[in-house]
Amino acid sequence: MKPGYIIIISGPSGVGKGTIIKRVLNVRDDLILSVSATTRKPRPGEVDGISYHFMSTEEFKEAANAGAFLEYCEVHGNLYGTLLENVNNTLNQGKHILLEIDTQGAEKVRLNHTRVISIFVVPPTFQTLINRLHERNTEDPDVIKNRLMMAGNELATIGKYDYIVVNDKLDVATTDILDILDSLETTIN
Ligand code: 5GP
Repeated sequence: MKPGYIIIISGPSGVGKGTIIKRVLNVRDDLILSVSATTRKPRPGEVDGISYHFMSTEEFKEAANAGAFLEYCEVHGNLYGTLLENVNNTLNQGKHILLEIDTQGAEKVRLNHTRVISIFVVPPTFQTLINRLHERNTEDPDVIKNRLMMAGNELATIGKYDYIVVNDKLDVATTDILDILDSLETTIN
C-alpha cells in the first residue's frame, strides 16, 4: 500500500478555509484532518481535541522538545504545531492528511517531506477579506488589523504553492480542491 499525501491548505485569516475544508472532508473518506496544538485561547464554540489541542505555553514547549511536532511556528503571537503522530498514523494507513497551516509551516513541511501538495486559498478581492473578518466578529479590531497586515505577507508566498484556489463561490472552491485531490493518483508517483 502506498502512503498517502500531505495536503497543505493555507490562506489568510477569514478567507473561508475552514468551511471549504469541512465540505471536502464530507466527500473524501480517505482524507483526515490534522488537529493542531496551539497556545491560543479557545474561541466561543471551539472544542478541545476537535478544533485544536489547546495547550499552555509550557505544555507546548515540552511537547516541542520531546519531538512531538512535524512543524511548529508562531502565528499572530501564538504557537501552533502539527502533531507528528497523527500525520504518521494517517499516512501509514494509505490515507491523506490535511494540514490547515500557515505559510511558514507550509514551507517547513515542503522542505522536509516528499509527497506534499500545497494549496493556497485566496479571496476574490482584499475588500472581501476585510468584510468577512468583520462579519465573523470573533476578534477585536486590533486583532483584525493585525491579521489583515499578516495577510499581505502571506500572499507574498503564494508562488511557492502548487495550486491557488479562489474562494469567491464556496461550491466552486470546494470542487476545485476535490479536483486537485482526484488528480493526485494519476499525476504524481
Ligand atoms: P486561527 O487562530 O485563526 O485558528 O489560526 C491562525 C493561523 O494559524 C492560520 O493561518 C492557521 O492556518 C495557522 N495554523 C493552525 N494550525 C497550525 C499549525 O499546526 N502549524 C502552523 N504552522 N500553522 C497553523
